[in-house]
Amino acid sequence: MGVNSQLPSGPTSKSQKAIEDLQRYEVLMLNGHFDFGNGYHGRVYLNPHQLFRYPSTIWRFAQDLIDLLPRSVLDATDVVAGPVTGGALLAHTIAGLLDSRREITRPPTSFALLSVDAGGAHSLSRFYQRQVKGRNVLLVDDVRNTGQTFARCAATIRASGGTVLATAEIYDRMEAVADLDVPNVSLAEYKAPENYPVAACPLCKAGVPVSAF
Ligand SMILES: [Zn+2]
Repeated sequence: MGVNSQLPSGPTSKSQKAIEDLQRYEVLMLNGHFDFGNGYHGRVYLNPHQLFRYPSTIWRFAQDLIDLLPRSVLDATDVVAGPVTGGALLAHTIAGLLDSRREITRPPTSFALLSVDAGGAHSLSRFYQRQVKGRNVLLVDDVRNTGQTFARCAATIRASGGTVLATAEIYDRMEAVADLDVPNVSLAEYKAPENYPVAACPLCKAGVPVSAF
């Protein structure tokens, strides 16, 4: 399980179950022959939109992710923040699930949205800057690629006076180059095999039909 994103020697049973769940909901398609439409073919296709197509799907994965998060992080979380679009939808769901089991004496868990400005940078509107100021923030995203989105979002939250407690994602592509000095928890970890330029695709050469998705 990806606490502190140590490279695992193999999928944990929890991660294995999550990968099976992701396949069942067609978020993750393995062992196919996919045409990505950009000149590359590959065996693995990840479609995060499937996480959000039915709300019940993301509620289920959000709950599974909460179950993996350290108690100390959950207890200290005031705000759950995420970048548009998938991260924000996940953050909103997690904030709601945490709130539903909050002790009556604690203030409600709130949600903060990190939007993308015209220059492609993640930012908090003034409204959300006020939400995170002086608060403990759990930063989430649907998928972690290089980790740079988390790094930029964390910098934005810190610049607004918030404290980032941890990062968490449904799916870690195991390609993180940017690491934060906070724990990271992922529900599923899977490093996809490389993609091939169409002209060099061994699946095409072997006559494997292109998969529909
Ligand atoms: Zn091919």
